[in-house]
Amino acid sequence: MAEQPTAANELAHQLQLLSEKFAERLAEELPELASQAQRLHTADPQTQLQQLRSLRDQLHKLAGAAGTFGFTNIGQHAHALEQQATHWLENGRLNTQELPAFIDQLQQFATQDVQSEQTQNSPARPKPPQKTEAHMRCIYILEDEASIGENMRLTLGNFGYHAEHFSRIADFDAALQRRLPDALIIDVNLGDAEQTGLAYAATLQQRLEQPLPLLVITTKNDFATHLEAVRVGAMGYFTKPVDIPQLENRLERCFAHQQGEPYRVLIVDDDRDLASRYSLVLRGANMQVEVLENPADIFAAMSRFNPEVVLLDVNMPDCTGPELAQIIRFNDDWLRVPIIYLSAETDITRQMKALIKAGDDFVTKPISDNALVTTVFSRAQRARLLSVALSRDSLTGLLKHADIKEQVGIELERAQRSGKPASVAMLDIDFFKKVNDSYGHVAGDNVIRALANLLRQRLRRVDSLGRYGGEEFLVVLPDCPADQALIVLDEIRQRFAELHFIAGGSEFSVTLSAGIASTEQEANDAGELLERADRALYAAKHGGRNQVR
Ligand code: GH3
Ligand code: MG
Ligand code: MG
Repeated sequence: MAEQPTAANELAHQLQLLSEKFAERLAEELPELASQAQRLHTADPQTQLQQLRSLRDQLHKLAGAAGTFGFTNIGQHAHALEQQATHWLENGRLNTQELPAFIDQLQQFATQDVQSEQTQNSPARPKPPQKTEAHMRCIYILEDEASIGENMRLTLGNFGYHAEHFSRIADFDAALQRRLPDALIIDVNLGDAEQTGLAYAATLQQRLEQPLPLLVITTKNDFATHLEAVRVGAMGYFTKPVDIPQLENRLERCFAHQQGEPYRVLIVDDDRDLASRYSLVLRGANMQVEVLENPADIFAAMSRFNPEVVLLDVNMPDCTGPELAQIIRFNDDWLRVPIIYLSAETDITRQMKALIKAGDDFVTKPISDNALVTTVFSRAQRARLLSVALSRDSLTGLLKHADIKEQVGIELERAQRSGKPASVAMLDIDFFKKVNDSYGHVAGDNVIRALANLLRQRLRRVDSLGRYGGEEFLVVLPDCPADQALIVLDEIRQRFAELHFIAGGSEFSVTLSAGIASTEQEANDAGELLERADRALYAAKHGGRNQVR
């Protein structure tokens, strides 16, 4: 069977092309360096120093780039020569006795066979493509008490999941043969079954090629059961009576962890070949990369691309890396973005000087592909976690007031540019004060969370959701005219009214009202759009609540 072109092959091929291009560049640059060194002999002391400085800068670049492209020896060689030159520069004069040896080495260096020098620098293995399909998540529930299991199935159904409930291990097993779900919910005590739910879960997870997200439900709240749950790989532990909105929250977290968006990385480097190589390697590891050659474009790039990590070259002609890092740090909006210097600088003192001004980490060139991917990945992961924690409301996990409001402005502009209408909906829970008064604040919080989860489930990934105020929510729907928004929101309204909440032994349900405004009717700014949505909401309230206007 012929070998299929895979992403990994393609990446290897492109990296090879870049290396060949770099080899050509070496073949041109090295003889040039040698003849520059030759001229050092005859120059006067002042010119000598100037020439030496220029030579040192070129060697510095080479030292960083050559190793990265797999020319390890050349890189090391260049680094040694660079250090010699730096030493002379620091002394303010070069040692004429040592100069011939220096030139000799450069000559040797220039006449070697560049191609044969290349060592293998294997590309990082790309991750398999991620699922972005927003299909209906399938959940299997194993619970011997029929009423609990059924209630859970119905409630999760309301949240937009496809849930199935089984009372016996045999039925659960049979269902698993037919189709693998996206997550499992298993009760610890299965009545008269011959094994406990946890013992069954343990053998099941081993049988599967890849363990499934598992949530455990139980009447026990002791340490031993918690420990056993952790050991079978449970990602959540819920004691009965189960708080289903909370359980649903946990499910969402499991899934969000599984299928994150690719990390966004901005590279600023004046060496085009090197920048192309980095970006290929990072793209191969499923990251989204943009390369900036001109540091002056940094503002536009930061706002448009919104990177989660910035990789900065240290030595650039018009503006150094540390200078650019300080410019980025002037703006508080970009405080969360880690800045990593990529440099051939190995001198710790100078590294520290750069880091003290601004920047978070120093990576020395040459860097292996795997090290680059790991460094960027771990920084990006942490940055995203922090960013989510900072901009999200802690009760609902939705965007906070300021962030969702900003989103309205962004989508309004996008709609004006693209001509595709966007809609904004403001939602408010009806008579919410009564919920708090009758069932307590905790029950009220649960209702707020349930609505947040319902919105997350029912809306598209491109939609933005925010908690606008206490029990007020704001939803931004790009590429969605008002009539469609009305259909979507009205479905959410119905689903929400069908939810059953349990507090202090009594059951209750709650309704909501919503107002929609769209860009089909001209709006000058976000404030105007919000005001129209608010007026529509007011009309819904006065029209009798439990409706969308
Ligand atoms: P309407 O149908 O007109 O919207 O009536 P309402 O009672 O929902 O509206 P109102 O604005 O009078 O009351 C909202 C209440 O929501 C007041 C406040 O105590 C409560 N609330 C705000 N934030 C939270 C929260 O985070 N948790 C809980 N439990 N209650 C909250
Ligand atoms: Mg209200
Ligand atoms: Mg209110």
